[in-house]
Amino acid sequence: MKHAYRAARIIDGVSEQALAGHALLLEGSRIVGIARAAELGSDVPVTDLGDCTLLPGLIDSHVHLVDDGSPRPRGLVETESRGMTLLRSAQRASNSLRAGVTALRDMGAPTGVIPTLKDAARAGVAESPTIVCCDTQLTITGGYGRRENVLGREVDGADDMRKTVRKLFKDGADFVKLMASGQVSNAGAGLEAAQFTLQEMQAAVDEAHRFGRKVAVHAVGLKSIEVSVAAGVDCIEHGNFLTEALAARMAECGIFLVPTLLPYRVLADPPAELVLPDDVRRKSQVAWEKSLEAVRLARAAGVAIGAGTDSGGPCIAHNSVAREIALLIEAGLPAMQAVQSATRINAQILGLDDAGTLQAGKTADVLAVDGDPLRDPDAFTRVRLVLKAGRVVTGAPAAAARDGAQGRYLGEESSFSCRC
Ligand SMILES: [Zn+2]
Repeated sequence: MKHAYRAARIIDGVSEQALAGHALLLEGSRIVGIARAAELGSDVPVTDLGDCTLLPGLIDSHVHLVDDGSPRPRGLVETESRGMTLLRSAQRASNSLRAGVTALRDMGAPTGVIPTLKDAARAGVAESPTIVCCDTQLTITGGYGRRENVLGREVDGADDMRKTVRKLFKDGADFVKLMASGQVSNAGAGLEAAQFTLQEMQAAVDEAHRFGRKVAVHAVGLKSIEVSVAAGVDCIEHGNFLTEALAARMAECGIFLVPTLLPYRVLADPPAELVLPDDVRRKSQVAWEKSLEAVRLARAAGVAIGAGTDSGGPCIAHNSVAREIALLIEAGLPAMQAVQSATRINAQILGLDDAGTLQAGKTADVLAVDGDPLRDPDAFTRVRLVLKAGRVVTGAPAAAARDGAQGRYLGEESSFSCRC
């Protein structure tokens, strides 16, 4: 049966302007299209959401579901059972969905945790956004991104890489995440050297692409971005030390950038609870300034930019997409483009052909917020309605919504602002 939702504004994920005086028409789990409200047939039930904005469900392209967003975000993962880690991850996933995140890309966890959560969601045991995961990340022996007995796998040489990538897919990974550089904390190879060789990265790309899968790379420093682009990866995470020439090459090759501005902003101006050594603080300030520059260069070159929060990381609460959108705007993106980064572009990064826009035939993953998020990113915290594949996850049922009932905004760990 068809159902229509009318709202003051509709952001469809494609158009440069929000549509006024329109309604979103759904049938079951699918979007039928957007029609002028006045032209809807009288046989179609309409929910009038009033002064709301309807838009595609938000997508977060860089999340760590196992981490808790505290100053020491991996503390519990290191001490608790895998069962507890899984349950906490499921709770965060559910809270994120209820707050409007209908899909996310998980960027690294202890082996098996996130694929199991995906199985649970498929079986109807857990409520979750669509999750695209790497299972666990790959690094070199002694490199950044591995914690003994917790997460990450060490891989050395092209043959080992091929075998490891095959094993990851066998274990339920959707894509491959390579750790090509260290981090501002000086871990692993730091920021100056690239961790993997070109041959190792090419082996990962070749093996993933043969199976229609993608490769995302943690690459902060210049050398690591260079080798990632040369290897033909699909997406660069962070990319702080991007240059004009590399941005041009990324645009040519269709490589996405997920700059994750939020963690660098937090590290550059840390809350009192997050104590950083002086040199890390200095490096973080540089990394923050470089990340703003990277967004500017990427945008000028025509690189598609995704919105990823690094949620779960130090002092980054889960469901912080609105904060990343606000930072992308601060970095120079027009508000509509920043919202499209968190919807249509992120859907492309995740490889979800049926998500990210409100176009006919797509899955009905839909969000409605009070007010206009293009003028006021805080509007994202005023969630009125969340539909996952056409099913109401958050918000009043149709009749109550017509009466102006408020939708729920749930959640421990669903807060808009950093709470640590
Ligand atoms: Zn991350």
